[in-house]
Amino acid sequence: MRDLILRSIVLLIAVTMLANITTNTSHAVTEDNPLLAKWEGPYGGIPPFDRVQIPLFKPALEAAMAEQIAETQRIANDPASPDFENTIVALERSGQSLDRVGTLYGVWGATMSTPDYQAVQREMAPRLAAFNDQITQNEALFKRIEAVYNSPAKAKLTPEQQRLAWLYYTNFVRAGARLSPEAKKRLSQINQQLAGLYTKFSQNVLAEETDQFIVLKSEDELAGLPQSIRDAAAAAAESKKQPGTWVIMNTRSSIDPFLTYSDRRELREKAWRMFVNRGDNGGEHDNNAIITEILQLRAERAKLLGFPTHAHWRLENSMAKTPEKAMELMEAVWKPAVARVHEEVADMQALADKEGAKIKIEPWDYRYYMEKVRKAKYDLDQNEIKPYLQLEKLREGIFWVAGELFNFNFTPVTNVPVAHPDIRVWEVTDKTTKKHIGLWYFDPYARAGKRSGAWMNAYRTQERVNGEITTIVSNNANFVKGKPGEPVLISWDDATTMFHEFGHALHGLNSNVTYPSLSGTAVARDYVEFPSQLLEHWLSTPEVLQKFALHYQTGKPIPQDLVDKIKRSATFNQGFATVEYLSAALIDMKLHLAGDRKIDPDSFERETLAQLGMPKEIVMRHRTPHFLHIFSGDSYSAGYYSYLWSDVLTADAFGAFVEGKGPYDRAVAERLRKNVFSVGNTIDPAEAYRAFRGRDPKVDALMKKRGFATKS
Ligand SMILES: [Zn+2]
Repeated sequence: MRDLILRSIVLLIAVTMLANITTNTSHAVTEDNPLLAKWEGPYGGIPPFDRVQIPLFKPALEAAMAEQIAETQRIANDPASPDFENTIVALERSGQSLDRVGTLYGVWGATMSTPDYQAVQREMAPRLAAFNDQITQNEALFKRIEAVYNSPAKAKLTPEQQRLAWLYYTNFVRAGARLSPEAKKRLSQINQQLAGLYTKFSQNVLAEETDQFIVLKSEDELAGLPQSIRDAAAAAAESKKQPGTWVIMNTRSSIDPFLTYSDRRELREKAWRMFVNRGDNGGEHDNNAIITEILQLRAERAKLLGFPTHAHWRLENSMAKTPEKAMELMEAVWKPAVARVHEEVADMQALADKEGAKIKIEPWDYRYYMEKVRKAKYDLDQNEIKPYLQLEKLREGIFWVAGELFNFNFTPVTNVPVAHPDIRVWEVTDKTTKKHIGLWYFDPYARAGKRSGAWMNAYRTQERVNGEITTIVSNNANFVKGKPGEPVLISWDDATTMFHEFGHALHGLNSNVTYPSLSGTAVARDYVEFPSQLLEHWLSTPEVLQKFALHYQTGKPIPQDLVDKIKRSATFNQGFATVEYLSAALIDMKLHLAGDRKIDPDSFERETLAQLGMPKEIVMRHRTPHFLHIFSGDSYSAGYYSYLWSDVLTADAFGAFVEGKGPYDRAVAERLRKNVFSVGNTIDPAEAYRAFRGRDPKVDALMKKRGFATKS
């Protein structure tokens, strides 16, 4: 249920270096435009974040696209008969410049967005989509890929090479390489229109998250809020130029804690409404009409490509393979989760009645009474945990875990340019051999122009088509910066997210493959959350808590009785967490199974939730009008179920450690590295999992982890 991974803007065509074939014109541009230049400096070159200027993006993207078109044209027109080397490997080597520019462009879009930048984004998104189509629709190029894929010589290739040939062939076919010229033309129009709509959708959400906030003006409007939230709200007020007040921002990291602690019910309702109505307020930033259009275009595109629905097209190359299979899992978990929600609400209602609150539990009461029930049932106060969860100590904790599981060592480096002064960088090396493994960038704090949530990004992927290329990865979050000089304290949930995103980073850092298209996190969407969700399990290990969950004032480790309480309450509130997520995942899938009828998102959401029996005390984790996972691009569309799918693997995989010598069992960790974390997409994920676990995953562990009854 954490956030997504950002992928490079160029999804299909992997990229490395081939500088020698740039034309004279683009050489001139290269010299002028630092965004196009080969990355200089240590660690095999580093991204020149210090040289970015918004006006450079457009000419750099244009030159890089032209260069890659020329490269692919050369491959397509090669007089030699097609083979793996002159076609597939040549494609792997093409597009180096665009990959470099795309990294910088993507980082700016996600973390440094400004009106200037957004204007470039609006112009370039459809052009990048058209560029992708120009490559995948190149008839001569596809003929060569097809020839390599169908050639008897393929049997002589290594398994990794065969997988790469399969991936190119499949991706081209899935992108319409086999369609008639008229169909191809229409497909390309659709993709360009969609790219524009995705950009608009994202910019609308960002605008409502930035422009809307709640100003608290007096002490009694702060009733119930712990000091850390007051401090964060005071800091937010500074940034919003509202001195002397406290500001609750319209982002999850600001809203959730407010809903959890504010005693002022009418303010909770106000904050809740502001947050769940992002993109749904009428006016210039309303996303409803955009969604209708996106869904219709996606349905049309699926038909063109020969699939009954967008969901069928998206899932074809996933681990689940069909929407039916994904729905089957979601429906199996939905019923017990809803039943649990009714129990949770009953507990909350009883407590509210006992307090004489004279209310019926509403969605803006859920988090508030949940905390009270947690206290009453488990004697556990989240505020008691927080002083032990210092952001920087936990960062040391994740480094330590990476050292135990994968023998990694992290050293801070300062000789590397960053996009913003808040960003810090570490070099990752092997503890024993001291060999350089990669760089890890950490961008922890919220700021204007940064998208909400937490995510991992790869600036460069590991590969060895051109010698040993090491990876550069980043973790990004939206922690609220506290007072200067004071440690940032985070919640248990945020700490879990930190381990999650670091799991993605480790998936990238462990990569040990030859071809960039198969590297690191470039795996099936419903498999990619497996390594990251798995890593969440290490937060609650006694070793991490003893060494790194240290009180920010006394330095003492979190007391055992508090740890025991956390353990005892592990399945507490799993009804809420599961239903909040699963309702969004089900709406996503149903929207994309609905075919080409014209959909009004508002009534579709309302009616579908009613049919599902959605508890009225809960709202979807992402309502349709701001569901960035599925409407800011294609990649998580009909794919939000992936978190649950991966969690089946996660829960089952952690069992291998439990059955062994525990979470730090070196032999199990080595099996995990060998079969999961290092192989990228070089083998089929189901096969990789079997190699690690010795069998297929079972759903029982997931049900147990969430405290739901299973039929035995
Ligand atoms: Zn994730």
